[in-house]
Amino acid sequence: MALHTPEPVAPEWLAVPKDLNAIDARVWPHNLRRDSNGELTFTNGVIDGGITVDELANQFGTPLYVIDEDDFRARAAGIKKALEEAAARIGTTAKVYYASKAFLCTEIVHWVDELGLSIDVASGGELAAALAGGINPARIGLHGNNKSLAEIGRAVSVGVGAIVVDSEIEIERIASAAQAQEKVQPVRLRVNTGVHANTHDFLATAREDQKFGVPLADVPALVAKIRSDRHLKFLGLHQHVGSQIYSPEGFIESSRRLIAMHAELLAGGEIPELNIGGGFGINYKPADNAPEVSKVAFAITDAVAAECQRLGIKVPALAFEPGRALVGNSGITLYNVGTIKDVKLSDAVDAKGLPAVRKYVSVDGGMSDNARPALYEAEYHTVLASRVSSAEPALSRVVGKHCESGDIVVRHDYLPADVAPNDLLAVAATGAYCYSLSSNYNWLTRPPVVAVRGGSARLIVRGETEADLFARDVRFQESAKAPKIEKS
Ligand SMILES: *Cc1c(COP(=O)(O)O)cnc(C)c1O
Repeated sequence: MALHTPEPVAPEWLAVPKDLNAIDARVWPHNLRRDSNGELTFTNGVIDGGITVDELANQFGTPLYVIDEDDFRARAAGIKKALEEAAARIGTTAKVYYASKAFLCTEIVHWVDELGLSIDVASGGELAAALAGGINPARIGLHGNNKSLAEIGRAVSVGVGAIVVDSEIEIERIASAAQAQEKVQPVRLRVNTGVHANTHDFLATAREDQKFGVPLADVPALVAKIRSDRHLKFLGLHQHVGSQIYSPEGFIESSRRLIAMHAELLAGGEIPELNIGGGFGINYKPADNAPEVSKVAFAITDAVAAECQRLGIKVPALAFEPGRALVGNSGITLYNVGTIKDVKLSDAVDAKGLPAVRKYVSVDGGMSDNARPALYEAEYHTVLASRVSSAEPALSRVVGKHCESGDIVVRHDYLPADVAPNDLLAVAATGAYCYSLSSNYNWLTRPPVVAVRGGSARLIVRGETEADLFARDVRFQESAKAPKIEKS
């Protein structure tokens, strides 16, 4: 393919791909390949074996979330091992919680359980899903800045391993639930260290001006309060400095502040753990360059060890809570192409002085199955999935079918210029925060989720039907129940 000058309206980071048909292993699931017909296939290791995207689309429809189960298992096990090794290097241990809000169904809980990870939940519903997935409640952590009394009561009664206290008022709420049930509830205290991790503003969660955690200055009094209550057991401090973080600096600076506080609190008794949080960044598109989790983890644990040594304290057991790093790249979304428009951009000209054109490719889903571009201006990567093409690259925008101009799935990418209705597109790295943020906007039904393993697919969450949409519509249900009166 000839080398092209990039379109003037393309962002600087977006290179014109050398090969539009290439599948970048840094972005896509491990088992996704092109077969000899050029079709994307989840391979079973045998040449041209496995299941093709056409077969998946025919069997389950589109849009379709597809999770490469082996990829998930390998990533989750690899990250667990990396974090455990990073901890072992400094003479301690690491507990790894999967932050389940990234993607949650009972099947995933089962995988996480089998892999020996713990799990974080952030609501009564997520807690119910984790319990239904069969994981030992002692391996569940409950988060949230506004847990209801019912959520706290249930968490205490099933015996979750940790509740993360997010405000002073919660200390009393958790203590009184534990007292009523004659239990001792282990708790962590979430601290807002004031550190701004290097990430999109909306995702940064440890700055001063936000709703999570308690300020460092308040920690001694609150920990004293926890310690003085015989129905609570203080596990340690907790931080979560943001999401989609590439550089360890934010983790390190925040951890230093946390460890200084941890050291100060040791005067009042033992503190078994320190929770560093999650937020490890991933590659959403070929231009991204996320570091290996192990690299970031080593930098963090080295800094933790140095700080503990400086303060003359024992290194505590560590805990981490990655979400997207486990599941993000394991998932893709398949869409069917509907309408296509070449939109002339009047304020920009290309290298030949012609008006720049952006190809708007509309697919059969959109912001209801992937809200992240609209929510965070997140960027995604797409390829033509059902065939290869040798057509010229065309600057494209993949958009959904919703009544919003912000309904964008892939804001900036190149697709072959001959992309046509009924082609299948695959969007990479949709395993995290797509299904979990999905909605019924415009009365679209949420897509099914399929897990692929050994080249065969199995439904793990069925897609919604129109009947599901009507099931909660009271007038509709009442009229359906009412006896039908024949009109004459
Ligand atoms: C969302 C969240 C995580 C996981 O974030 P990722 O970016 O998916 O790793 C971890 N801990 C807390 C408290 C969270 O809210």
